[in-house]
Amino acid sequence: MKRLLIPALLAAACSSGPQSKPATEAAAGATAAQTPPSPANPPGAATAGAPSPAPPAAGQPAAPTAPAPAASAAPATKEPPAIDESAMDKSVDPCTDFYQYACGGWLKRTPIPEDRASWGRGFSEILQRNEALLHDILEKNARGEADPANPFSQKVGDFYATCMDEQKAETASLQTLQGDLKRIDAIKDAKGLAKEVAVLQARGARAFFGFSSQQDFKDASQVIGGADQDGLGLPDRDYYLKDDARMKDLRALYQDHVAKMLLLLGTPELAAKQQAQTVMRIETALAKASMDKVERRDPIKIYHRVERAGLKKAAPNFAWDVYFQELGAPDVQAINVLVPGFFAGMDKLVAKKANLNDVKTYLRWKAVEAGGNALGKAFVEERFRLNKALTGAKALLPRWKRCVQMSDRALAEAVGRSFVKATIGDEGKAIAREIIEGVEGAFERNLAQVDWMDDAARAASKDKLRKINNKVAYPERWRDYSTMNIGKESLLANLEEAARFETKRDLDKIGKPVDRNDFQASPSAVNAYYDPSLNEMVFLAGIMQAPFFKTDAPQPANYGGLGLVVGHELTHGFDDEGRQFDGNGNLNEWWDKRVADSFKERAECVAKQYDGYTAVDDVKLNGHLTLGENIADIGGLKMALAALRQRRGGSLDSRTEHDFFVAFAQTWCTNYRPEAARLQAQTNPHSTAQWRVNGPATDNPEFAQAFSCKVGSPMAPQNRCTVW
Ligand SMILES: [Zn+2]
Repeated sequence: MKRLLIPALLAAACSSGPQSKPATEAAAGATAAQTPPSPANPPGAATAGAPSPAPPAAGQPAAPTAPAPAASAAPATKEPPAIDESAMDKSVDPCTDFYQYACGGWLKRTPIPEDRASWGRGFSEILQRNEALLHDILEKNARGEADPANPFSQKVGDFYATCMDEQKAETASLQTLQGDLKRIDAIKDAKGLAKEVAVLQARGARAFFGFSSQQDFKDASQVIGGADQDGLGLPDRDYYLKDDARMKDLRALYQDHVAKMLLLLGTPELAAKQQAQTVMRIETALAKASMDKVERRDPIKIYHRVERAGLKKAAPNFAWDVYFQELGAPDVQAINVLVPGFFAGMDKLVAKKANLNDVKTYLRWKAVEAGGNALGKAFVEERFRLNKALTGAKALLPRWKRCVQMSDRALAEAVGRSFVKATIGDEGKAIAREIIEGVEGAFERNLAQVDWMDDAARAASKDKLRKINNKVAYPERWRDYSTMNIGKESLLANLEEAARFETKRDLDKIGKPVDRNDFQASPSAVNAYYDPSLNEMVFLAGIMQAPFFKTDAPQPANYGGLGLVVGHELTHGFDDEGRQFDGNGNLNEWWDKRVADSFKERAECVAKQYDGYTAVDDVKLNGHLTLGENIADIGGLKMALAALRQRRGGSLDSRTEHDFFVAFAQTWCTNYRPEAARLQAQTNPHSTAQWRVNGPATDNPEFAQAFSCKVGSPMAPQNRCTVW
């Protein structure tokens, strides 16, 4: 479970938090193409992709599809200035709405591209430049131009070239899918079912549940298995269970979408409609058995180390031994069952032999869903119809962008080798390390001021802080892809192979010492993350660019950008989830009860504050869903400013303070389609951009001072929430 900086829905920023796998905040539905879940959740790049509920079990095929214009040149945007006067709207009082003051000009003049659900000045524009750079690398690899930095250039080139060949998607990919469907049709009994569930999951389909490696929450030195809820086609359980008009409409649309996809495969119309009803019935039952996303934020609620025997007890009618054998983890016994009730619910679905045909219908759908975006045009456009309803994106991403995403997801640390060579240099890494150390120093100095802690908690927090492992830009040792077989015929076969490779790589970790070299996100991702079990912060090369960071940018801009990101990730180690893990990554109450209660009281203040913020129309933020991210944003802003002040010898002039706050706000300027804002507020742990600026600024007395805000004005309340 990692905490990302931005929502994956949007595409890039930070995540943290306990999950079986480091669940990146990818959960929001959008679709940037990252392999495993990972860092922060930045607003911005929401694309037209497949909505994804839980963390993809393994290498999920990426998302979107589109009518393919030939590989056109990517319109790379130029790097923005660190602090952009023209992005501001100085007619707005900064003490009333700082976000509008800092971003108003940009928000007015910047349309959302047709193929995006939202567009941000920081995350999206970097994403767009990264996309153009990756495109260039992939085109070269596809032409057979090897990159000396990447020994797997040929695989990368073959993957991308096959993806770009739409004709092969119409034919060879469809054949691959039909092979999957035939195997499902041949299932005759419980053993056959368990075996096929393993095959489908390993190939990237979200069949029923997910199984992956995780560190034992209570003994972080052990890597065990984690069995978690999954299996939904809509973004979250609420989409199946809530009764409001919009959810009802989306359910109807989803059911119709399932039927249309089956129809495209040649299922007769009436049968396709009946099968879609069956899928809906099964997914609704899974949704009912699933744990709510707010509850899931509490690591204690998703920790049940009941081992394989306990899993068998929770779902006795599923042939677990056959499943683990097929999955390639025949001996695994040490297992955390995150949500036991989910497996009991699933068991009811598979218990009766008479239900086998319905379960097979569901599995057929999961295979089609996973492969849909790799098929021909009609399938891809039908997948997009669902995505459009969920995110508001108006057009499918052009084929080359979809292929960039899929290639990066499949071969992140092969493409990444070429990417980092072209982006971050050694000098950049050194300056970034200096910022990280500065922010850590600020956090340590601040501990002395935290009056709700006792000395023991303060000392233990200092110890945890010192144990944090920082990773910058890209791994020391790159992943070895020599056992991944990429062909030149079927895109879907390649995606399935990439998922198989990732599943094996992940499950091979069980029972071995923890791998501290591993990166849980693509080096090109515009994101960062904190992982509480590893007690580590990771800043990916993709985010270490303007406006967040630039070697020669003014200091206030680098601290308002990357400094804030560092402060945010660091504070995740001490938010409502992260603080439950000690310096060694173990879930363990390491504070006195009085200290813990004082923390909770302060956190509750933050939850209430954000409950009052409106994301769009009648949709408010969920203060408890976003609590960890908001605590991280509030702490991050404070620590970044303190680090800048220290860097400047202990004091700042008012111009520098202004620049710092404006630079911070301008990394977040984001326009959302209403659907995207709604989706984010309802499913994502990250607040929408406006509140990632105004929330932390409101809680920061130095902000009010810098802009001479009168006590009682909207950005300078009488009483503030302060956790750190
Ligand atoms: Zn975060």
